[in-house]
Amino acid sequence: MAQDAVVMKFGGSCLRDSGGIKRLVSIVSGQKRCTIVVSAISGVTDSIESEITGRLSESGIESFIKQLTEKHIGLLREVCSGRTLEQYSKDVRKTVGKFGRILYGVYYTGELTQRMKALLMSYGERLSARVVAAALDASGRQARVFDSDTLPLLTAGSYENANGLLGPTRRIAFRKLNAAADRGMVPVVTGFFGVNRDGHVTLLGRNGTDYSASIIAYAMGARNLVIWKDVDGFLTADPSFVKGAKLIEELSYGEASELSYFGANVLHPKAVEPAEEGNTRIRILNIDNPSSTGTLVTSVRKKAVGIVKSVSCLENLAIVRVYVSGGGFQSGTLSYISGFLGRAGVNIISATTSQTCIAFLVLETELGIAVSSLRETVNRGVEKIETEKHVALMCVVGEGLGTTKGIAAKVFTAVSEGGINVGMMSAGASRAAYHFTVKMDVLNSAMNAVHSVFFGD
Ligand code: ASP
Ligand code: MG
Repeated sequence: MAQDAVVMKFGGSCLRDSGGIKRLVSIVSGQKRCTIVVSAISGVTDSIESEITGRLSESGIESFIKQLTEKHIGLLREVCSGRTLEQYSKDVRKTVGKFGRILYGVYYTGELTQRMKALLMSYGERLSARVVAAALDASGRQARVFDSDTLPLLTAGSYENANGLLGPTRRIAFRKLNAAADRGMVPVVTGFFGVNRDGHVTLLGRNGTDYSASIIAYAMGARNLVIWKDVDGFLTADPSFVKGAKLIEELSYGEASELSYFGANVLHPKAVEPAEEGNTRIRILNIDNPSSTGTLVTSVRKKAVGIVKSVSCLENLAIVRVYVSGGGFQSGTLSYISGFLGRAGVNIISATTSQTCIAFLVLETELGIAVSSLRETVNRGVEKIETEKHVALMCVVGEGLGTTKGIAAKVFTAVSEGGINVGMMSAGASRAAYHFTVKMDVLNSAMNAVHSVFFGD
């Protein structure tokens, strides 16, 4: 039954070395029916990116290819032997060989398109999947590699940040993956990329393997998705700010997605959506700490005693304030102005409006583009544009937060007692979260102040 299937995602940090791969094998050996989705070996995607975006040379390419081959063949030698080693070494060499030919193509044409870049970046996962499959084979568990472009995991959108097409992916992948699992095999699916309707490889965004795994779980109709990481799970706050941050045992899909979009680096923000759509439970587990039960993410909207479950933050943001003349907006003003930002590729993290001004929260690195894209609007309805740098966004998350009295008062009292000024504020857009901005230099105290009100010191 497909429903019994477990999909497990192993990130690059779990695949640091052969020890990590062996731990993966022993975890899988305890599972009757399991599909795994893997990231590239730790550091490989970064190294591919810096190779292809740096200055290419024939000798440089040659040595990079050699390095990539040695890394993966070296791992193969540590996890398998004999015929398995022979077979997978051949496969790894063939895969690296293809990568090399594409890279030479880029060098000779002097042209690195987004499409080429996505294709090249997908090779880390193609290689790690082969190493992991070899390790499983060697342990007596027959594995089968599925490259997600030939599976296919179908996508739409840009080459570097595409979205998975759930229904169309399920149509073929459900049968293929479940048929392999039915025969007792372990499907090993490459994370991080898919393929668009034109047949070109697209990436799902950096660290996108969580998202791939969630799409695969949806496609298989799996009840459970386990994300293996090197941290225990979601915490009550980012531990780099708050020393006493504690593990959260359960979150709703809504809470996990707010936390992921707003600073918690535990799960890829887009990973929640396919899971919610397919009612797949997500469990985050720590490969280095097997006794921890981690965090469970489900459809259950459980209120915590103090309502708030976690406080997260995003750093290095900026505010663009657009003052609109004429007092009160004409209809269409918000879409007219945000259209300029959208076309310039600026990601709007949050927006608030008043009768005279619209404030947009953006990444500080995108502030320059944001302002120049809006220049055209000045004197065409816009009076002036102001900017503010060194801004951080804090996000307070908990089911019931939008409908329980006194939570906002508690949050903002804590912040103001610390002498901290709140900038932009947004509540009501999500029932499970409030967002507000503070200056970067007081972020640490604001995080600790809010955390201690709800969780103690
Ligand atoms: N290997 C890809 C990256 O480093 C995807 C992933 O790790 O999830 O971004
Ligand atoms: Mg990675």
